[in-house]
Amino acid sequence: MSTRKSLVVIGNGMVGHRFVQAAIERGLTERFDITVVGEEPRAAYDRVALTSFFDVGAERLSLLPTGAYDDPRVSLVLDTPVTAIDREARTVSLGNGEVIAYDVAVLATGAAPFVPPVPGKDLANVFVYRTIEDLEAIREASRTANAGVVIGGGLLGLEAANALHQLGIETHVVEMAPRLMAVQVDDAGGATLKRHIESLGLSVHTGVVTERIVGDTTADDGGRVSGLRFKDDEDTLPVEIVVFSAGIRPRDQLARDCGLDVAERGGILVDPSMRTSDPAVLAIGECAAPGGRMYGLVAPGYQMAEVAVDALVNEASTAAFEGADMSTKLKLLGVDVASFGDAFATTEGALELVFADAVAGVYKKLVVSAEGDRLLGGILVGDASAYGVLRPMVSSGMALPDNPEELILPAARGGQPVQPGMPDDAIVCSCNNISKGSICDTIDQEGCADLPCVKACTRAGTVCGSCVPIVKNLLGERLEAAGTSVSRGICEHFDLTRQELFDVIAVHGFQRFDDIVTAHGRGRGCDVCKPAVASILASQFNGHVLDRTTASLQDTNDAYLANIQRNGTYSVVPRIPGGEITADKLIVIGEVARDFGLYTKITGGQRIDLFGARVEELPQIWKRLVDAGFESGHAYGKSLRTVKSCVGSTWCRFGVQDSVQMAIDLELRYRGLRSPHKLKGGVSGCARECAEARGKDFGVIATEKGWNLYVCGNGGAVPAHAQLLASDLTGEELVRYLDRFLMYYIRTADRLQRTSTWLGSIDGGLDRIREIVVDDTLGLGAELEAEMARHVDSYFDEWKATIEDHDKLSRFVSFVNAPGVPDPNISFDTSRGQIRPAANDQPVSLGATIPVGAPSGAEVGAR
Ligand SMILES: Cc1cc2nc3c(=O)[nH]c(=O)nc-3n(C[C@H](O)[C@H](O)[C@H](O)COP(=O)(O)OP(=O)(O)OC[C@H]3O[C@@H](n4cnc5c(N)ncnc54)[C@H](O)[C@@H]3O)c2cc1C
Ligand code: SF4
Ligand code: SF4
Repeated sequence: MSTRKSLVVIGNGMVGHRFVQAAIERGLTERFDITVVGEEPRAAYDRVALTSFFDVGAERLSLLPTGAYDDPRVSLVLDTPVTAIDREARTVSLGNGEVIAYDVAVLATGAAPFVPPVPGKDLANVFVYRTIEDLEAIREASRTANAGVVIGGGLLGLEAANALHQLGIETHVVEMAPRLMAVQVDDAGGATLKRHIESLGLSVHTGVVTERIVGDTTADDGGRVSGLRFKDDEDTLPVEIVVFSAGIRPRDQLARDCGLDVAERGGILVDPSMRTSDPAVLAIGECAAPGGRMYGLVAPGYQMAEVAVDALVNEASTAAFEGADMSTKLKLLGVDVASFGDAFATTEGALELVFADAVAGVYKKLVVSAEGDRLLGGILVGDASAYGVLRPMVSSGMALPDNPEELILPAARGGQPVQPGMPDDAIVCSCNNISKGSICDTIDQEGCADLPCVKACTRAGTVCGSCVPIVKNLLGERLEAAGTSVSRGICEHFDLTRQELFDVIAVHGFQRFDDIVTAHGRGRGCDVCKPAVASILASQFNGHVLDRTTASLQDTNDAYLANIQRNGTYSVVPRIPGGEITADKLIVIGEVARDFGLYTKITGGQRIDLFGARVEELPQIWKRLVDAGFESGHAYGKSLRTVKSCVGSTWCRFGVQDSVQMAIDLELRYRGLRSPHKLKGGVSGCARECAEARGKDFGVIATEKGWNLYVCGNGGAVPAHAQLLASDLTGEELVRYLDRFLMYYIRTADRLQRTSTWLGSIDGGLDRIREIVVDDTLGLGAELEAEMARHVDSYFDEWKATIEDHDKLSRFVSFVNAPGVPDPNISFDTSRGQIRPAANDQPVSLGATIPVGAPSGAEVGAR
């Protein structure tokens, strides 16, 4: 007689799947035959990444690509619902009429989207957003629709909005609460998020109640959606698609029908070992409610699955589900959003440190203990790069550094890359509950040499991916400590260095990021590789940075062809080659500054900066300047900024060469040249060096016999004197060597590597550069010169091209849905007779508390 038992798993979603995998791994199949019954037509897939279905298709989302579990003792029945559980007979009935006996049943039925009883909800083209089939139906409907609306501005609502937007239809988001993502972020974070989303062309309606969906319910086909009506509003929002994303409800009907206890607000009641009120039935994932609370994220579900397997493998197991970290980090419509720990400062005496840069779209808040010594939680919008380090700081309770503000300030404003020494028990991957100690041990024991190996061996970073940067750092530290070389890949999407990427792009002639990542990387790119690729493409092809294929890769400055300043306004810097300018042009600059009320300043690079321009004013300002013969000074990009000069032999009694003419020639030659970091040059008319040329990436100093060329200096945060590369050059030689030098740097330097640090990274240092640039020992000279010639020939002024292009101009508005309305958050004071950012617009406000409470009635179901 067989002693084997039967276990039925109801539901093959993310958590049910995890349960089966853990059951196989931990030997539960030695005693149990497992039957998994799933209602969806396909095996478990990554629902968290559902939106990428449009990009990658169903196959790439599958968690079970072979369609069967490795262990023959597990059988999978798909496309079949379980319709009833008979607890007395210990059987489950399937929709196909089959009845299966069980010794243990595990409910993993997940949750269903909540559709409020709004009139019109049964019309055709009203959808929810939960399964691949839902997305397929939405895609089909979008083929004949112009506009769609998502009801619900929570996490899932924004995902759904992203999907509609990707499908190319006009997209609206409707949220009853006064802000987006009310459960995860506070008012200021929600406002920042809203701005971001609007800048992408979506319309956001907060604080509005949907009264009904409009459509002809008497039509033969059941009627289609034609609009949406809000309460207390006469107008109808014309949309043909409605997607509900108004929260989720646990799928506990099977449990209710067979008399299991359920929580007051829904969800199957379970004890800490995941047993329901009937010990032969367990419940895990979104359908379960441990302690009466439902968890709407995958990480707690995974923990429940592990605990349930433990309980079944070993009856004496003390494993227990003790609540979960509800921290989340997401990228919604390209915007980073993270919320962790006590994000709403509900702990008594909690203090808040806030950094906000409204127009750059960055909002970061740290909640710290009353004593200021511990991190309790936080919210990050627009830049969540610190999340991987901050969240473990909360769970480990480690002491905050002396200047906690450095954890959220951008590097340019004193922020430090955060690398605190976390204790070993700090949880790094909260999705899989994996500690720093366990990751480090695995790296040592398994001999992991790259990220995929660490991911495979620990599972860290395999769900939401937010901890990947910190896992990567830990790996780097371990490998370095063991004397092993560390992967030099530019980021987790490319194993190639920037130099290798440059070569790959050059060889294949790629012009689109998507082609490059498909051929030589993985995933969809990030804030590290996208601008790096944009810069490489610009160096090689010199297209317009706002072209359709590259616009979305740019960072804020390049995206607006201007430098964003601390109160969210922009500075405009016309090129003034060699610092030489006519009176007429000076007058134009003065008039523009006066007419637009701008602050003016002569810069250290011999330019006139015009500060305080609002985004919607930029095109008008450019038009005036372009009409007067000015062009973009590229003060915003990682590109050539200026070539400073003294007055040289024309005016100075010591001058031995015409330094002004040379500076103008060089600046015009290299204008618009995109590079790994910003580039500056200088030309002095004699050894007195009034242009400070040796503080620049390339410096030229006149001699009696010609020109001396110095390279790899800089006047930035780590000043370095440029070093002599070649002496007494003719003008022609100088340009040839400079062409080669700059192109070789652009080709081989790392991302954001200045020439001075690049020099330090080159084996053989300056001598090696001299061999390549002057002696041409690699035979690269002609190629480098030809590349530069291509750049020079293809140069065009980005400002001029922008004002002539309606499409590109359309991004220069304050609010997408109210283009004529200036941003009321921007205001100015005056000082020394000119404007300056008003005090209350200061981006850094530290130490003060902003009175934001926890959202009332916040519940998972309102995600
Ligand atoms: C678009 C989207 C984005 C998300 N993003 C995130 C995120 O960024 N981070 C995060 O943590 N979470 C996210 N989630 C939530 C996450 O997907 C869920 O927490 C997780 O999938 C729950 O797993 P589960 O197995 O409990 O439920 P599910 O994955 O929903 O699986 C339940 C399965 O059971 C099946 N089923 C139900 N009843 C029966 C029955 N009677 N018979 C047979 N089968 C049945 C269902 O059809 C389903 O296949 C997201 C969800 C969505 C929809
Ligand atoms: S040195 Fe440059 S970065 Fe620093 S404050 Fe001045 S302008 Fe800004
Ligand atoms: S560097 Fe020489 S030429 Fe130029 S201004 Fe100074 S002294 Fe005159």
